[in-house]
Amino acid sequence: MLSKGKKKHLSELAEFVANEYCPEGVVQPESIAKSKGIQYSYGEYADDFDGMLEHSNGQFHIFINTDRLEHAYKPRARFTFAHELGHYFIDEHRNALQSGQAPAHSSFTNFASENVVEREADFFAACLLLPEERLRKDCFRRKFSFRLADEMAHKYQTSITATLLRFITIDLYPLMVVCSQDNKVKWQWNTQDFPYYNLKYKKEKVPEDTAAGEYFAEGIKYSETEIVFAADWFQVRDKQFDRQFYEHCVYSDARKTVISVLWED
Ligand SMILES: [Zn+2]
Repeated sequence: MLSKGKKKHLSELAEFVANEYCPEGVVQPESIAKSKGIQYSYGEYADDFDGMLEHSNGQFHIFINTDRLEHAYKPRARFTFAHELGHYFIDEHRNALQSGQAPAHSSFTNFASENVVEREADFFAACLLLPEERLRKDCFRRKFSFRLADEMAHKYQTSITATLLRFITIDLYPLMVVCSQDNKVKWQWNTQDFPYYNLKYKKEKVPEDTAAGEYFAEGIKYSETEIVFAADWFQVRDKQFDRQFYEHCVYSDARKTVISVLWED
């Protein structure tokens, strides 16, 4: 994981860039690029990369691969564009590229990269597209529900995953997000104030009595928010095994992936 200090730095940097170049409404990566004189192009580059920032003859150029990302205005393409802007705005990334220490690298944006440079750019991108002040204002005095996260994803034209990550890093509500694939837990995020941390079977297996578990066992997909109990998801030691939680799932059949959002009433 990125250190706390690093995250703080990246989110402050992104907030500054958002306020400086797109002070209101939805952040448009293209107009930030224009303001900084960065050229960009959308092209079909097969499966080589999602995006790339290149530096040659004193000029920066962002390439966005529409083969992998559909339309330019779709959340994934916007996110990739913002990720490439991260490589530009993060001093170490830009300096390495400018001085020729690092070659133009291919980026795959998926939040789970082993590469710290990629994780930094992903984190920057989520912060840039979902600026903290704006999000806090929008959520002020509103209770958490999946609908609220979905509403913000639509408003800011970001994926539900990026939006939930942002809810967690800003710590707007006590929340946990679990991503499962092939009946195994791929990653989990939670706020400090979420009451549980240890999943029932750690990463080995998705607990069977959860909404995500039912998808892997029986292919059941819930479109509504479900009620689950603490002992369904977590290792419970405090006799509060029947503490109630909400679980809302987002399914991807193609990737055999379920994103579970967990929160308390
Ligand atoms: Zn990258």
